[in-house]
Amino acid sequence: MGILYGHRCVLCGADFPVTTSRTLQLCPDCAAAVRREYRCNEVISIAGADGTIAPLYYRGTVRNAMKRFKFSSAAYCADWFAAQMAVALTSQLDDWQPDLITYMPIGFLHYRKRGYNQAELLAKLIAKPLSLPCEATLRKRWFVGKQSAQKDYAARQSNAKDAVLPKKGVNLTGKSVVLVDDIITTGATAAAAVKALREMGASRVYVLAATFTPRK
Ligand SMILES: [Zn+2]
Repeated sequence: MGILYGHRCVLCGADFPVTTSRTLQLCPDCAAAVRREYRCNEVISIAGADGTIAPLYYRGTVRNAMKRFKFSSAAYCADWFAAQMAVALTSQLDDWQPDLITYMPIGFLHYRKRGYNQAELLAKLIAKPLSLPCEATLRKRWFVGKQSAQKDYAARQSNAKDAVLPKKGVNLTGKSVVLVDDIITTGATAAAAVKALREMGASRVYVLAATFTPRK
C-alpha cells in the first residue's frame, strides 16, 4: 500500500507518512518514547484532594509540546493531551463518580495574550465524550502568579494560597468535581483550587492534570 496521508507529529513537529486513514497523532519514534519514558503512574498527592492523576511526565518532547500548547497558540496539541487524560479519567470513573468537570482559571492578562485557557480547552474536550457538564467555577486573582516562575517553592506556596477563588454564584453542594489542569509542579495552586471548590460545597474533589513534573 502506498502513502496515503502525511501527518505532523504533535510531540516533535516532524511530518511523517502513514499508510492508513487512521488518524495518527504521533510519529513512531515519539509513540515509542511515550510508552518508554513519559507515562506517569505515580501516586500524586495534592493537599485536600480525594485523588489526583496525570497520565504523562512533564519532560522532554512532552514538555516541549506542552509549552507550544501553552505559549504559542498551538491549540492543536489539545486533542492529543485531552485523549491521554480521558483514558486516565475513564479508568477512575467508577471510583470518582464525577458530576462535573471544571478547570483551573488563568489570569485575565494571560487569557488576552493567548486567546484561550489551555485547561478550559482540555476540560471541554474531556467532558464531551463522557457526557459530563463542564463549567467554570473558579477565578484567578489577577495580580498573583505573574512572576511565579521565578519564585522559589516556599514563595509559590504562600502565593498560591489565595490565588484561586470561588466564582460568585456557583453552588457545588454534594457534587463530585474533577478539576482539570495542564501541569502539576508543586501542587500548591491545585491545592488552593481544591480548597476553593470545597468551600463551594463540593463533597469530593479530584484533580486530573495532563502532566506531572517529576521530582528530582
Ligand atoms: Zn514525533
